[in-house]
Amino acid sequence: MTALNDKLQALRERDLYRTRRVLDSAQGVQVVVDGERLLSFCSNDYLGLAADPRIIAALERGARDYGVGSGASHLVSGHMRPHHQLEEGLAAFVGAERALLFSTGYMANIGVMSALMDRHGVVLEDKLNHASLIDAAQLTRARLVRYRHADLAHLNEVGAALDGPMLVATDAVFSMDGDLAPLRALSEFSEKKGAWLLADDAHGLGVLGENGRGSLHHAGLRPTGRVIYMGTLGKGLGSFGAFVAGDEALIETLIQSARTYIYTTALPPAVAAATSEALRITEAEDWRREQLFARVKRFRAGAAALGLGLMDSETAIQPILFGSASKALAAAARLRELGIWVPAIRPPTVPDGAARLRVSLTAAHTESQVDQLLRALESVDQNESAS
Ligand SMILES: *Cc1c(COP(=O)(O)O)cnc(C)c1O
Repeated sequence: MTALNDKLQALRERDLYRTRRVLDSAQGVQVVVDGERLLSFCSNDYLGLAADPRIIAALERGARDYGVGSGASHLVSGHMRPHHQLEEGLAAFVGAERALLFSTGYMANIGVMSALMDRHGVVLEDKLNHASLIDAAQLTRARLVRYRHADLAHLNEVGAALDGPMLVATDAVFSMDGDLAPLRALSEFSEKKGAWLLADDAHGLGVLGENGRGSLHHAGLRPTGRVIYMGTLGKGLGSFGAFVAGDEALIETLIQSARTYIYTTALPPAVAAATSEALRITEAEDWRREQLFARVKRFRAGAAALGLGLMDSETAIQPILFGSASKALAAAARLRELGIWVPAIRPPTVPDGAARLRVSLTAAHTESQVDQLLRALESVDQNESAS
């Protein structure tokens, strides 16, 4: 035990120790955290759907009709009508032949890569990819080659000498930076190399593209041929779970061989029913995206006027770079004193020296709440040394 305690103490000393806060309310713009009311800028509930009464009602109906537990994996007896309907709805929404539900985005990424790659393959990944994509590649035992962030020249350089089964994986919207992957150029590279392209759209589904159809649509691409789409349902859609979309043969391959699909219990059917309602609302209510992007614009203009270190992001994810973990933590603590909750993101989630506040905006924030955040940020000194 002392070895564990020594490691924990070392994390504390480097300002890298993580703690959890307990919410006593639903996810949303106003939350109750450890008994305190806070204005939150830290959920991925970009469209403000996590506690929508229509989605709650769909969950209740789903539970009444199908119970709580699915009782089995999809291939045994747990694949119920609400799962099947959701898959059909998702495929139509993103413009794919088929879609396949997974319990989480983490499991979807592992499932896709483990079904398509083995130790004879090569996986090429952006340096800033989400941990689940990195872990997925490592589990396949394929050779993992990482290219500099969104850098096509570097990808071409490292890719030139490689051949054999290949897969390129990228966050479509980078989770800690908010910028977009160069999907068109990545798909051209993949086409040229005969490689798969896996686009992880955890932060783009519901947010980008016509009616929120996601980053591929936004880039003028579709999940077909060698292009694979992975979308998560616990962020913009406000529910839970994930799916992979692509051609028939790809989806059938995943059903036959993706271990994180086969060897796990199917999602609760009521959650699938709730997600179908979330999907309907996402597609129908363009005003949510309009409102979100209006808030993004207002925040960026205000933050630029304050001289804050904004990053190159046009999405809901608006990081403010601080550098050291201690400075980012001090800034988060100052905002908290002012009743505002913004997370400090530290290594290893971001590279060393790139600690930041990660502001996430949602359609549910009002203009005056964005202004309140800006006023609070004005009182945070970005250059102040917290040590
Ligand atoms: C959140 C996230 C995931 C994981 O999705 P879950 O459904 O939460 O497991 C995968 N990729 C990216 C880029 C993410 O941000």
